[in-house]
Amino acid sequence: MRILVLNCGSSSIKYSIFDRDLNRIARGSVERISSKDACVLSYRSDEPESKEICNIPDHKTALEYILGHIEKGSITAVGHRVVHGGEKLRNSVPVTDAVKQEIKKCFQLAPLHNPHNLSGIEMIEKILPGAKNIAVFDTAFHSTIPRYSYLYALPYYLYRKYTIRRFGFHGISHRYVSMTAAGILGKEMTDINIITCHLGNGCSITAVKKGCVVDTSMGFTPLEGLIMGTRCGDIDPAIVPYLMASEGLTLSEINTLLTGQSGLYGISGISNDMKTLIDEAAAGNERAQLAIDMFTYRVRKYIGAYYAVLGKVDAIVFTAGIGEKSPLIRSKSLDDLQGMGIILDRALNSTVSSGVISAGGSATKVMVIPTDEELIIAREVMPFL
Ligand code: ADP
Repeated sequence: MRILVLNCGSSSIKYSIFDRDLNRIARGSVERISSKDACVLSYRSDEPESKEICNIPDHKTALEYILGHIEKGSITAVGHRVVHGGEKLRNSVPVTDAVKQEIKKCFQLAPLHNPHNLSGIEMIEKILPGAKNIAVFDTAFHSTIPRYSYLYALPYYLYRKYTIRRFGFHGISHRYVSMTAAGILGKEMTDINIITCHLGNGCSITAVKKGCVVDTSMGFTPLEGLIMGTRCGDIDPAIVPYLMASEGLTLSEINTLLTGQSGLYGISGISNDMKTLIDEAAAGNERAQLAIDMFTYRVRKYIGAYYAVLGKVDAIVFTAGIGEKSPLIRSKSLDDLQGMGIILDRALNSTVSSGVISAGGSATKVMVIPTDEELIIAREVMPFL
């Protein structure tokens, strides 16, 4: 018995295979699908073990390629990461026609993700007809956010008519790291409050009170909140009509500007990649430094806000590419928070890749926890087997 976990994105498919005891037995990805130099990677621990450049024109070919390299007969179930479950899909569910319809209804809310997630499900139904398909939603962990926190102060009928509200994303990752943090503290999730910072290409931060999410920085779409690789995060909404009028931008152009040309890339003018910006800033590039300063200032501002939301914070967790790998970003994000009982241990911060990095006297423990979204998805699949 094996569980295949699939994460079908716009240009990549990532996969992991787990055995019945949830040991991961394989992991890999097909990246840059549709480009001439699509690349197939398989991993052992964190580093790619092999890399092959091949011609992979579309997602179907990519999936066939992956399934051609694993023992298909052993796959009993497939866990699919689905980004948006809307208001109805609040828990992991076996895929039915009705579930597929709901996923489809959320296409407009997550246009870069949900169509690919659904096509992954439909391809697997054809290629592996005997396997059970389970959909696991990125929005599900956030379904406990109270109404006063998830509503926007727009006319209420717009919520009724279009479900315009905060949904939140990266829920699978926030859930995994908050569970792991509770384990590190030797406490139940229901006994503690945690702020989880998922800082990757996309970034979000979540306030988890006694195991339930009460607020999160991404909103109706994954554009709101922190500054990201190419996404602007929070801005004054009045900038949108102002820019459309003054620059003569269409809806689609303004969307591209906010989601694809802003964030770290927009400010630095060089790159959306934090590692590149850190290197450039060290070499004296002022705009790269400005992008880093803005990024960490926004993280710190949200940590302060969520501290107020939670009242007491037992742990702050950093995860995903930037959160896991950059001591500089972690320390700049927590600068001068000693007054709030948050004290980083500089030595631990620069050496520990997984575990506690705060000083002994810090009232709030600070941790780095490498995320493992695939493991959570595989765990979610288990009850359905
Ligand atoms: P995705 O959201 O695509 O899964 P990741 O979680 O892999 O992204 O995060 C990608 C980000 O992590 C990039 O901005 C990258 O530069 C950054 N990153 C990776 N390694 C480091 C590092 N050593 N120092 C700073 N940033 C890093």
